[in-house]
Amino acid sequence: MSRIVFFSIPAHGHTNPTLPVVAELVNRGHDVWYYSFLEFKEKIEGLGAKFIPCDEYLPPISQEELERKAGKDFAALIEMIVDTTIALDEKVCAELRDFQPDCIVSDSLCFWGKLFAKKLVIPYICSTTTFAFNRHTAKLMKRSLKEIVSMITGMPRINKKLQLLRSHGYEAENFISIIQNDNETDTIVYTSKKFQPMAETFSGKYAFVGPSIGQYSEKASEDRKGRKFIFISLGTVLNQNKDFYQNCIQAFADSDFDVLMSVGEKTQIDSLGRIPANFKVQNRADQLAILQKADVFITHCGMNSVNESLYYGVPMVLFPLHSEQRAVADRVAELGAGIKLKGNKPKQLEKAVAHVLANRTYLENARVLSEDFRNAGGAARAANVIEVKMNGSEF
Ligand code: UDP
Repeated sequence: MSRIVFFSIPAHGHTNPTLPVVAELVNRGHDVWYYSFLEFKEKIEGLGAKFIPCDEYLPPISQEELERKAGKDFAALIEMIVDTTIALDEKVCAELRDFQPDCIVSDSLCFWGKLFAKKLVIPYICSTTTFAFNRHTAKLMKRSLKEIVSMITGMPRINKKLQLLRSHGYEAENFISIIQNDNETDTIVYTSKKFQPMAETFSGKYAFVGPSIGQYSEKASEDRKGRKFIFISLGTVLNQNKDFYQNCIQAFADSDFDVLMSVGEKTQIDSLGRIPANFKVQNRADQLAILQKADVFITHCGMNSVNESLYYGVPMVLFPLHSEQRAVADRVAELGAGIKLKGNKPKQLEKAVAHVLANRTYLENARVLSEDFRNAGGAARAANVIEVKMNGSEF
């Protein structure tokens, strides 16, 4: 039996794919700890892992802000990472020295997990729920001039924080070494090599294991009497978008479609006006179950949503909201499994859905990727990668 410690940030998209991996490792008899956040306590403990909350150590920051900082404001991001690492330092280092893990698996945005691993010289694996990232793929993110200027003007703040980190015994050569991994870092990526842009620029240290869906039971499809089923979701973070939801309602109200719209926990459903009889609007949906029945998915192009949609072979209408999601949307469109919305007006939504449904190639391309994803190995392969790393061999 080995001891494995996971770290992640308080985000469903970054935590969900790791859960089937944790389940797999626990089933194989390993002792697993997970430094996470209270909203995931039940799920993690339910898998038989030890849950350790980090909530009180994280500066008060919303998920929206964290996503924004991760994509744009580097100085603020580094300040947040360093403050969190130092706040957790004493507690986590003492616990890890005691537990003596064989391996730390830390989310690619949970930089403190990586910093603890380096400081305590514990084998480290990066868990990447987005596209794998290097200097080649960075170009796909199309950073704006404003973002680049803000990065440069933030350098003095960054350097001050890096010095603070060094004074606590952390290796911190420069900020790039914290936020980016090199080709020597063992990395699990929850998509397939075929879907990853510029996959050839990544070394064999990157394991593209495909979506980590776990032992999710597949549902039998329902008889909809010829009616097509549209699923709509903007994910769990930037999902307060009343205009968009109302446009969807207008586009598909009383049509020949059945529609399920997941609007997020913070959207007041009764603020959206009349809900037509062919619509179901929910604050949260069992997305994996729904996708097994959907004919088309209107998505914000979060990496997990797109991975899950392709896993079940569902073509998409793409409505990305920020640069990382635009890169995901571009890739789906490039591989012909969906089309990008030209705007979010009812007519544009209607036309996009009609186009995807009328052209079978979208469905066929989504099915090709589905097969590829199912063959990538998923959670079981991710667990193999971790075991191989702990045994000290290459994967
Ligand atoms: N999700 C869900 N039900 C919902 C909305 C989202 O189960 O009603 C899950 C979805 O299956 C995915 C995750 O939440 O695993 C969202 O991650 P993604 O990367 O797509 O987007 P984010 O929420 O990070 O923007």
